Amino acid sequence: MERLYNFSAGPAVLPREVLEQARDELVNWQGCGMSVMEMSHRGKEYMGIQAQAESDLRELMGIPANYKVLFLQGGASSQFAMVPMNLLRGKASADYLNTGEWSKKAIKEAKKFGAVNVVASSEDRNFSYAPTQDAWKMDPNAAYLHYTPNETIGGVEIFWTPIIGDVPLVADMSSTILSRPIDVSQFGVIYAGAQKNIGPAGLTLVIVREDLIGQVVAGTPTMFDYKTHSENESMYNTPPTYGIYIAGLVFKMLKAKGGLAAMEKTNRIKAGLLYSYLDATDFYNSPVERGNRSLMNIPFTLKDSALDEEFLKGAKARGLVQLKGHRSVGGMRASIYNAMPVEGVQALVDYMKEFEKTRA
Ligand SMILES: *Cc1c(COP(=O)(O)O)cnc(C)c1O
Repeated sequence: MERLYNFSAGPAVLPREVLEQARDELVNWQGCGMSVMEMSHRGKEYMGIQAQAESDLRELMGIPANYKVLFLQGGASSQFAMVPMNLLRGKASADYLNTGEWSKKAIKEAKKFGAVNVVASSEDRNFSYAPTQDAWKMDPNAAYLHYTPNETIGGVEIFWTPIIGDVPLVADMSSTILSRPIDVSQFGVIYAGAQKNIGPAGLTLVIVREDLIGQVVAGTPTMFDYKTHSENESMYNTPPTYGIYIAGLVFKMLKAKGGLAAMEKTNRIKAGLLYSYLDATDFYNSPVERGNRSLMNIPFTLKDSALDEEFLKGAKARGLVQLKGHRSVGGMRASIYNAMPVEGVQALVDYMKEFEKTRA
């Protein structure tokens, strides 16, 4: 079977050229006589792979020297706890913006460690938009402000960076990282599970400003302290070596393709194909407010939800898979991360038009 167009929200599509290089090197990496999976994480070959991955990521994202890059495990979900454990720093409460299912989970976890002040919420309209900063009720004494720049489930993206003075800004970038350039220096912590736009599941990326490290809540387990990992170059224990290797191949490929500005250009073309069609028809609907429409995760509904199953079946027959929407939104969701080619999105739009013509 030829490769399918995989619109899964995560684990998600990976670049074909990366998979092919990994295949070519799988059994015997660059003539060293073993697979990357079999290497000691303290050996010179593997240490070189990890150092190169970090330096390519730093270059891609323009990560300033006073930020640490940590390659961890436990998923973005573990960061829901690690962020308060590391960043409360003796303060009583933290600010959270609530824009969807992932924000809610982060808030729930943070409440185990301190008070949470929800600065604003879009739950009133089923998380179909993001409240603008003028509507936020911030606490000037907050330990940090946490938000989710792209809600993977709702497809709600925030394209501006909050300006919040001295309060460290923390962002769960799981589904938006590497999709467009950002100014890292405006953030205290950025974290992301790898399985959306970076690499395979099992690797979690944390980018943290150095001055925020080293003041954990008493009783924090060693493994949950950013300091443990920053002092040991993410090698306090065995890092997820193969995931880091694949991520490194992705970083190298993104650099070769012109970096994040080039990614944004292509991502806007891809999302534009889908949104402009959704706007041109009544047969399908986008539930998200225009200014917050995600470039990466695009939910849409059929006017007649009784046709959902038939739509999915027809899509699958054309090699367009994983389009079923999350149960909280219903309908469909097309996740179109960096590795989804323009042709995949075009094939989806062509199918949607055809389906509309025969069923409208
Ligand atoms: C997928 C996702 C998570 C959860 O990631 P895990 O790595 O599975 O823990 C958290 N936040 C966002 C925005 C996500 O998209």
